[in-house]
Formats: sequence, C-alpha cells, structure tokens
Amino acid sequence: MSPSAPAPARKGMIIDRDGLQSLLDRLSARGFDVIGPTVRDGAIIYDRISSVDVMPEGWTDDQDAARYRLARRSDMALFGYAVGPHSWRRFLQPPEERLWQATRQQVGLTIHTTAVPSAPYAFIGVRACELRAISIQDRVFLEGPHPDRRYAERRRGAFIVAVNCTEAGGTCFCASMGSGPRAADGFDLALTELIDANGHRFLLEVGTDAGAASVEDLPSRDADAGALVAAEEATARAAAGMRRKMATAGLKELLQANPEHPHWSEVAERCLACANCTLVCPTCFCSTVADYTDLRGHEADRVRRWDSCFAADFSSIHGGPVRASRRARYRQWMSHKLAHWIDQFDISGCVGCGRCITWCPVGIDITVEAAAIRAAPPRPAAGEGDDDGNA
Ligand code: SF4
Ligand code: SF4
Repeated sequence: MSPSAPAPARKGMIIDRDGLQSLLDRLSARGFDVIGPTVRDGAIIYDRISSVDVMPEGWTDDQDAARYRLARRSDMALFGYAVGPHSWRRFLQPPEERLWQATRQQVGLTIHTTAVPSAPYAFIGVRACELRAISIQDRVFLEGPHPDRRYAERRRGAFIVAVNCTEAGGTCFCASMGSGPRAADGFDLALTELIDANGHRFLLEVGTDAGAASVEDLPSRDADAGALVAAEEATARAAAGMRRKMATAGLKELLQANPEHPHWSEVAERCLACANCTLVCPTCFCSTVADYTDLRGHEADRVRRWDSCFAADFSSIHGGPVRASRRARYRQWMSHKLAHWIDQFDISGCVGCGRCITWCPVGIDITVEAAAIRAAPPRPAAGEGDDDGNA
C-alpha cells in the first residue's frame, strides 16, 4: 500500500467468536500449521493455536520506549494489543535452523539436507505493518538472482489472516510509514474486531480466492452499514491516536548527507550494542552460518542463525571490523533502514511497528533520533571520526 493509495471501500461479512473458531478448525483440517497470538512469559507471543481459548482474550499491551507490560482490558477483545516482541519473520526465516548434517562413513561422508517442514503456515492476526514487513522480506529473499530456497518453501502456500488495528500501540508509527493501520493487500482474509452496543463481532473481508474458499458456508451474516462505518472509524481512530510520527519527506537524502552528524555520537553514548532492535525488527534479515562437530568427529552440523549489524564481528574482514564503534553500528543500522534500503530494495526498511523502541533497553527511539538529525545543524565532515577512530 503506498501512503497515498486510497484503501478500497469495505465490504464483507460478520462473524462472531464461534465463527473465528470455525475458521481455525477449517484451516487445521486443510493441513495448515496454524500460528496465532497467545500469552506467554508476560508478552504476546505467536505460537501454534487450535482454539480461540488460548488467544489473548481481554489483554492489551502498554508500550513505550524501553517499556512493555501486559494489562487487562475492560472488554474481552481477542486482538486488543498492538504487537509483541515476535514477528512472523521467526517462522519464515527461523532464528536458527540446521541446513545440513554430515556423517562420517567408513569411506567418505553422507550429507543429509535438513528439509523445511511441509505443512504450510496459516498466520492468524497479522497486522498491516507486518504485512508490509513480509512483503519487504519477500523482496529480499525471493527477488533478485539468488532467491532463498528455504524461505521460498516456507512462504509458498502461507495463508494470511490480517487484523486491522483499531487502537494505536504506544510506540507505533505505521501511519507515517504508509503501512497501516489498515491492511490494504497481501492477505487472504482480513478481520476488524468490533466491540460496541451491537456486540462483539468481526468484520471479515476477503482478499484472495483462497480466502473466499476458506469462508464458504462459514457461520456468518452480511455486514450491515453500521458495521462498515464502525470499522472505518475504528481504523481512523487508530491512525489518529499514534503518538509517534516519522517525517519521511527527504529523510533518505538527509541521512545520506549526514554521516558525520554529532547526533550519531550522542546516540552511541547510550547504545549498548545489545542487538535487541535488530532481533525484534520484522524486516531485518541478516544471518550467519556456523559449523559444529561432535567431539568424536563423526557428525558435523551446518547451522544458519540470525546475526546483527550491532555484533562486534559482524563487519569483520582481515584486520578487524569495518564498524568497530557503536556510533558506526547504530548509524549503519538506522541509515540502512531509512535510507540505503530504498536504494537497495526501492522501499523503506522500516514499517513503523515500534518494536525497536519498545525493546531497546535504554529507550533509543528511531523517530526521535531521526528528528534530532533533522533538527540540529551538521558539523563539517572534514576530520571527523569517533572515539574508536572509526568513520
Ligand atoms: S526499524 Fe523499528 S519501527 Fe521500523 S520496522 Fe524495524 S522494529 Fe519496527
Ligand atoms: S539501539 Fe538500543 S536495542 Fe539497539 S543495540 Fe543499541 S541499546 Fe540495543
């Protein structure tokens, strides 16, 4: 969805909580591995679900910079939270996966390639910003001369049930990034949860033929005008309620013109280089590959796992890392997200989900840091460097 593209007029059907359960049952019966929101470890966690009963009924999340708490709602909303630390990335590109295993034989080796699980995913409760993040990762992993076979196998056949946001989370700014709060495309079905004097119900919109087939004969009724208006108002309210904004006009040029801005050093004084921001970000995609052998030297595993541009050795080449300082690493991360990504993939790498703000232990806020660079005059570039002597 481009920021200026008008969302199509709504039409759809109304289902209730039992109708949602019927949808989960159908997807399971059709062989999907159904993943949806649950409550675990004090957070909203995406996990396997078979019942509405395990969803975060009556829970919301209180989020701000370096703050995340679950809290009880005054109603029994199932999707009454924003986003948790997980994103769908962990299913399409798992944090760690074995690529192959080699076993020593009397003569030579046998190599077993580790298969990707064959059941297609059904994702329940994908936010508009997360749909955008999936489409960005599709661009990274599927387009270009070297598509990622494992990502392609996981992505192929995935069934997506989006949920339009009716409240803004504390750190969201998807409206600034043109990626939400309403899902425009990239889904099979989209839900808008409505709770008012007319009861607790879901406006269900169909996005694809597969979505249409999945709701044939589902217990439902036609959406009345009141429900359509309520859904429209709810997503508009979510957009208007976003406390954070990102001024995107000219941002790419601004960041690329300011590699020596003093604010990078100011952020570096707070940044712990813990990598949390990259681990929670739904669009980050960097990984590394490591080999492990057992002590007897009989078996070896090749494992791929997430990496981060905040890790000290991420940019190591002969002679040491290219980005040894936290200043250089934060600048790399934020400039890549908001500027170089556009050169590389023709789209911003940020969807405004706010996770990096919530889960940064020192509350570094990408919206605030971008605004600071825009506001403060840059220093002359000549002779600049950081406390580690890195550019
Ligand atoms: S950079 Fe931050 S706000 Fe943007 S998509 Fe990543 S985690 Fe979300
Ligand atoms: S910006 Fe925050 S979350 Fe990211 S590495 Fe620095 S301290 Fe960690």
